[in-house]
Amino acid sequence: MAQENDFWQTPLAYLKGIGPTRAELLKKDLGLVTYQDLLHYYPFRYIDRTKWYTISELHPELPYIQLVGTLTHIESTGKPGSKRLLAALEDGTGTLELIWFQAIRYIEKTLIIGEKYVVFGKPSQFQGRNNMVHPEMELLSQFKTTQNPSFQPVYHSSEKLKRNGLDSGGILKAIHYLIQLGRTKIQETLPAFILYKYRLSSRKEALENVHFPIDALHLQNARSRIKFEELFFIQLRVLRIRDNRKKTIKGYIFSKVGNLFLDFYHNRLPFELTGAQKKVLKEIRQDTLRGQQMNRLLQGDVGSGKTIVALLSILLAIDNGYQALLMAPTEILAQQHFDSFRQLLGDDFIQFSLLTGSTPKSKRKVIFECLENGNLHLLIGTHALLEDTVQPKNLGMVIIDEQHRFGVEQRSRLWVKNESAPHVLVMTATPIPRTLAMTLYGDLDVSILDELPKGRKPIHTQWFQENQRLRVLGIMKEEIQKGRQVYVVYPLIEESAKLDYLNLFTGFELLERSFPKPEYQISIVHGRMSAKDKDFEMGRFIRKETQIMVATTVIEVGVNVPNATVMVIESSERFGLSTLHQLRGRVGRGADQSFCILMSGFKLSKLGKTRLETMVRTQDGFEIAEMDMNLRGPGDIEGTQQSGVLDLKMADLGKDYTLLTEARATVMEILDQDPQLELPEHQILQEYFRPKNAGGISWDKIS
Ligand code: ADP
Ligand code: MG
Repeated sequence: MAQENDFWQTPLAYLKGIGPTRAELLKKDLGLVTYQDLLHYYPFRYIDRTKWYTISELHPELPYIQLVGTLTHIESTGKPGSKRLLAALEDGTGTLELIWFQAIRYIEKTLIIGEKYVVFGKPSQFQGRNNMVHPEMELLSQFKTTQNPSFQPVYHSSEKLKRNGLDSGGILKAIHYLIQLGRTKIQETLPAFILYKYRLSSRKEALENVHFPIDALHLQNARSRIKFEELFFIQLRVLRIRDNRKKTIKGYIFSKVGNLFLDFYHNRLPFELTGAQKKVLKEIRQDTLRGQQMNRLLQGDVGSGKTIVALLSILLAIDNGYQALLMAPTEILAQQHFDSFRQLLGDDFIQFSLLTGSTPKSKRKVIFECLENGNLHLLIGTHALLEDTVQPKNLGMVIIDEQHRFGVEQRSRLWVKNESAPHVLVMTATPIPRTLAMTLYGDLDVSILDELPKGRKPIHTQWFQENQRLRVLGIMKEEIQKGRQVYVVYPLIEESAKLDYLNLFTGFELLERSFPKPEYQISIVHGRMSAKDKDFEMGRFIRKETQIMVATTVIEVGVNVPNATVMVIESSERFGLSTLHQLRGRVGRGADQSFCILMSGFKLSKLGKTRLETMVRTQDGFEIAEMDMNLRGPGDIEGTQQSGVLDLKMADLGKDYTLLTEARATVMEILDQDPQLELPEHQILQEYFRPKNAGGISWDKIS
């Protein structure tokens, strides 16, 4: 097998017709370096050559199509710099306008009036007339069906590559040649029993058909097979990491549910836990009994009550003689956790402190000492907890809040503080679609808080446009009169920061006019303020000294002001769905009716409209997360970009849920039966973990 792998690792410069210059361009523009990279460079669509259309049948919803007609007119128009080439094609059912914006001189020379042409392209419409931009033209007299008369692959290229002969057609030729050359060297990567069980094509058949499909069915099978393979090996990778960790790292055993836990639970807990909270606590309890390290992701929509789960888990650890850390992504959030713990526990129940960047030196010294001699039970803080000076005597539980702000790096750094690793609970309010969680956090166990505390009223979400501003001011006034508070959030996007700040400040001034001092007080928080000023303004709002908080998205994560009942989001069409959902979660935290008001302009993109409609329709974080992923693609979901795990060429986490669960289940079965992949039927899988493999994913990118 090694020999075959060597073949696929050959640099592209050696492929006939490529050479060093084009190879360099392929690397720079498309990231393709080896034969294997090119083999895995899949078409992004196919031209259906099985059907011939007439001009009268055309409409803009059609994909790329083909038709035959006579060229009746050519004309180049436009000023220099915006020149166009126009042509007319007739087929007896109508006239089609053809347009080119580039390579005009060349195309004009090759076209002949009165000749019959085969035309390929995407129908579109302009001012009610059918047209086609940059169609491919071939003389009917010279038209030959290619080796695959049904589907012609189309590849993405770049301007530079096109100028060097590697347009889609050029890439097609190179891949065609490569497959001829390497046909016998395409090795299977999946065990035979899996191919059989899921009726998957062989790898050779799949790769041939994905580039040059025999027919629609073969194409579909090829795509399933390739997707399955991608998802399968990611799962194999993450689940092996998890297995190894479980085997090599010991976890502390919390043998008892002790006095602190029971006392708090029975005497101090101000409300009944939700069913979901109880279920998750049971899961955590089970994890800490096994002697293995807990690595659990707790997903719970905003307001689902994660903090109390954290607190009870911490008490469980302390009862068993261990210390705990609770880490939050910002000072405000760390402070809030500290304050709410103090409210719930009082000062003497357990010993705990707060450590942030602004903790004075003298206080730090005391904290570190008490942590080292074991007198401090719990330390709440920011990234400051990751410093080397933080050396607990007996760390047993680490809780990370709002996980996506911490990299995987930081997550793993925490558990080397001791010989056995502390249990780790990662909490996030950003619902991650199931498929993504299984992939990105596939090495973690997942708990879900899928139930809000009783008595919460759904947030009343409305979408208003600029001409309805008076009504919005009315709602704000009414709520403030009832003693409630209001958030007004402005977008802040780097590319348009100047204008965004202008909007923020103008908006602030307008509000000051509608809500004049001294009756009303308004806070403002944005990224150009110092951390100290931000905290000061935030503090005024939390203490109810101001009724309105004008802010950029800095308030997105975690801030808890139950008295705030109105969230106004300005230019809401510019926010992503998950951000909108996070922002809305800042209200509706108390028992009162809350409002989320989405302000938008009149001109909205289709996407922007869908987002706002989704917000009005549902409050289910998971539904919103799925929608978000489908609208944006998983690569754009926060925290996934750097992961490398999502280097999927064909599989789509938004759509391939069934394949993913099949792949994951298969991997689990295999690892259960044969963790080291030593059985003869599994040995083929070991190949994948070799540094340079035939599988196509470079694992060194993955943490
Ligand atoms: P999040 O999951 O967003 O971190 P929090 O832990 O901040 O949510 O909880 C939101 C609010 O709900 C807090 O004020 C908290 O005291 C309250 N809460 C949590 N659990 C319950 C419950 N079971 N019943 C009633 N209120 C609860
Ligand atoms: Mg929280």
